[in-house]
Amino acid sequence: MTVLNNPVIGISSTIKKHNNTPSVDVNEKYIQAITQAGGVPIVLPIGTEEMAEQWVSLCDGILLTGGEDVGPYLYHAHPSPQIQKTNEKRDKIESKLIIQAQNQKKPILAICRGLSILNVALGGTLIQDINTYTPNAINHNQQAARSDATHEVEIDESSYLYNILKRSKIRVNSMHHQAIDVLSPALKKVAITAPDGMIEAVEGIDENPLVLGIQWHPEELASKDPSMVALFQAFIGECNQPKKTN
Ligand code: MN
Repeated sequence: MTVLNNPVIGISSTIKKHNNTPSVDVNEKYIQAITQAGGVPIVLPIGTEEMAEQWVSLCDGILLTGGEDVGPYLYHAHPSPQIQKTNEKRDKIESKLIIQAQNQKKPILAICRGLSILNVALGGTLIQDINTYTPNAINHNQQAARSDATHEVEIDESSYLYNILKRSKIRVNSMHHQAIDVLSPALKKVAITAPDGMIEAVEGIDENPLVLGIQWHPEELASKDPSMVALFQAFIGECNQPKKTN
């Protein structure tokens, strides 16, 4: 029997009711994307904050997934009437995972809500509802299929992201009503939507370990767009550092 020794990727999850029973929930597309890129996915449930250090030490990288709005109390704002469902326990666990990943030098890939919680955990703030607070914004909450690319993003050519995708303009899907407002001092913006300036991707100021946050959903595009597979492969490559033997 062959034993895999590929990077183990901890994937954040939420709780949703299945058959009326609260259950651990994660979109299977994330599992498929990590597997396709050569990683070994494990799903991290919403446990306790104390578990974050051990979870991160078990993993070679952390994938923060899409989902609920981030609670505005985390960035000292009152909830807007347009705030949607939040999940305080998830906010707290994911914040701890981010801090632990930074401490333990483990790469982070943060998608959609993942980008929001990444920015907030590292000291940034969010626009709570794009339509309300940015009236000239283009549509970021598409009604098209999740796998349809509906708006263009412009990518900074000096970024790691550009290095992976090799294109300064790409079309992506967009399923968010929140966006980064004040960017964390630990992050730099590397992609925007040109008409409204919304931040669509960020990277860590420090290059090592990789911290990459993206507002769109590459896991939904991977079956149509090979560059989105390349994105996951790049992340797995960053997680594939020699393991410490002690
Ligand atoms: Mn968007």
